[in-house]
Amino acid sequence: MLYSVIADTYEKIEGTTKRLEIIDYLVDLFKKTDIDLIDKVVYLTQGKLYPDYMGVEIGVAEKLAIRAIGLATGKDLEKIRIIYKKIGDIGSAAEEVLKSRIQATLFEEQLTVETVYKTLEKIAKTSGPGSLDIKLKHISSLFNNATPKEAKYIVRTITGKLRLGVADYTVLDALAVAFTGDKSNRPVLERSYNLSSDLGAIAETVASEGLESVKRFKITVNKPIRPMLAERLETAQEIVEKLEGRCAAEYKLDGERIQAHKDVSSVTLFSRRLENITGHYPDVRDLVRKNLKADKAIAEAECVAVNLDTGKLLPFQDLMHRRRKYGIKKAMETYPVSLFFFDILYVDGEDLTQKPYSERRKRLEQLITQDDRVKVVPGIYSDDPKEIENFLEEAIVNGCEGLMVKDTKGIYRAGAREFSWIKLKREYRSELGDSFDLVIVGAFHGRGRRAGRYGAFLLTAYDKDVDIFRSVSKIGTGFTDESLEKFPKILAPYKIDHMHARVDSKLEADIWFVPQIIIEVIASEITISPIHTCCMNAIRKGSGLALRFPKFTGRLRDDKAPEDATTVNEILEIYKGQLKRVASRT
Ligand code: ATP
Repeated sequence: MLYSVIADTYEKIEGTTKRLEIIDYLVDLFKKTDIDLIDKVVYLTQGKLYPDYMGVEIGVAEKLAIRAIGLATGKDLEKIRIIYKKIGDIGSAAEEVLKSRIQATLFEEQLTVETVYKTLEKIAKTSGPGSLDIKLKHISSLFNNATPKEAKYIVRTITGKLRLGVADYTVLDALAVAFTGDKSNRPVLERSYNLSSDLGAIAETVASEGLESVKRFKITVNKPIRPMLAERLETAQEIVEKLEGRCAAEYKLDGERIQAHKDVSSVTLFSRRLENITGHYPDVRDLVRKNLKADKAIAEAECVAVNLDTGKLLPFQDLMHRRRKYGIKKAMETYPVSLFFFDILYVDGEDLTQKPYSERRKRLEQLITQDDRVKVVPGIYSDDPKEIENFLEEAIVNGCEGLMVKDTKGIYRAGAREFSWIKLKREYRSELGDSFDLVIVGAFHGRGRRAGRYGAFLLTAYDKDVDIFRSVSKIGTGFTDESLEKFPKILAPYKIDHMHARVDSKLEADIWFVPQIIIEVIASEITISPIHTCCMNAIRKGSGLALRFPKFTGRLRDDKAPEDATTVNEILEIYKGQLKRVASRT
């Protein structure tokens, strides 16, 4: 299969402003792909070689890419750098340089997907002394046979800058259409994806064996499961009503979520985003090995920084010192952690995700050996709002963020955010009690003190049903001078020249971005707005919902993917909760 087929598709995706067209282009590409390459083509479309949890990055620095362009074209490196500086995008710079070469050279052979993939794999796996020269040779060998357009996308891929904004759900939609002829089969593919986190494996199975085989996907130790997520409500009363009294209230600890996979003596730890973080937490790995009594198991825990002398739990910021590449041993001593298990999903051949909460909790209590470092998260069964409020106070006194209240009959729905888990926090930060994680899709030029920088940003909430980001706020408050300096740099790689195809906004931003960067925001309330498209027509015809007095908290949520942002449904629920509160006050 020729790599030019992929490059042509990328170009079309980049040029469109419609999400449905992205799907059409992907469907077309997948249909043209040989079955034994489909997994690789899926990974490549997202700028990867393997699923994320394998942690393989191609990781070529721009400097090295420039040297390789020089080696392949014979062009002076300084000239290439000048072109790059002028254009501002390393891929387009490569394209430009190769265009000037093309008249002089004839290709030896056309690039195939197999060659590109294998070479990228070699580049990713080369390390140690002399590796730079080996990588250089590999990259320039690709350029020798690449057209300028192909070179553009190869360079973006190896430098981690292929940002087409093709999300997992977009790929799943396209796979459903390409191989089952019907987009309504996406939920079947999605369910298996939630259990395996491997889009390539889903693609290969549906392409070669059909939908029935995909349905048989099972949980496997060492393949992370997409985490179940929580909705929120404002009061214990509302939660008890929503769950019809079937409530198990647990401490909601302020740490890092860890999904632990135990495979006899080996233990692998995955983060909330399903990256392999075993290297950061050798102590946690040992605790899981020792205290989880099963040969093969998958369990979830919150890892919290702790003062070992007093037993006191410490805030999230202390734990963040553990997220480092070097000096792990020292960090382990300075910032020790405790583990609080809250769920068990698999034990020795048995899938527990389909069992109700109360049964999983019982199994968890049987399988965890509790000691001063490892606990099952404290919890109570109660259908009494007063008792739950008291438990909330107790949790806060003990250093927790609040409570997580769970439906005692609820199964573990991988990847779902539903009212089966509901968080309850004390209203401490704003009238709305909790923050929002919203995706930046556009920016506005600053004026006055902010002239020459961005003055405000266009924020969106995620509409999961249709995989679109809908505008909910224009925000200019809460940014320090320092953060305003930082944002242009953070956003530069995602700049595009039109509104992204997965964005829905009536407001015209001055600059548009691929939806990628999430920021945390608080607000005084949610209001009806004719300008914003979030929840359009849900409350009033022709109007959407927007944040009132939004303020940036200073926190970038780089631990979240854009699809993990606050959803439009959450905004709607919060709006309704607000109405109820107003009604009860009057
Ligand atoms: P998200 O729901 O998208 O993870 P978030 O990162 O902003 O959002 P919250 O919504 O505030 O976090 O809370 C959810 C997180 O709470 C879980 O992902 C988990 O890390 C943590 N947590 C703490 N205690 C518990 C518990 N007892 N049960 C489940 N999750 C818990």
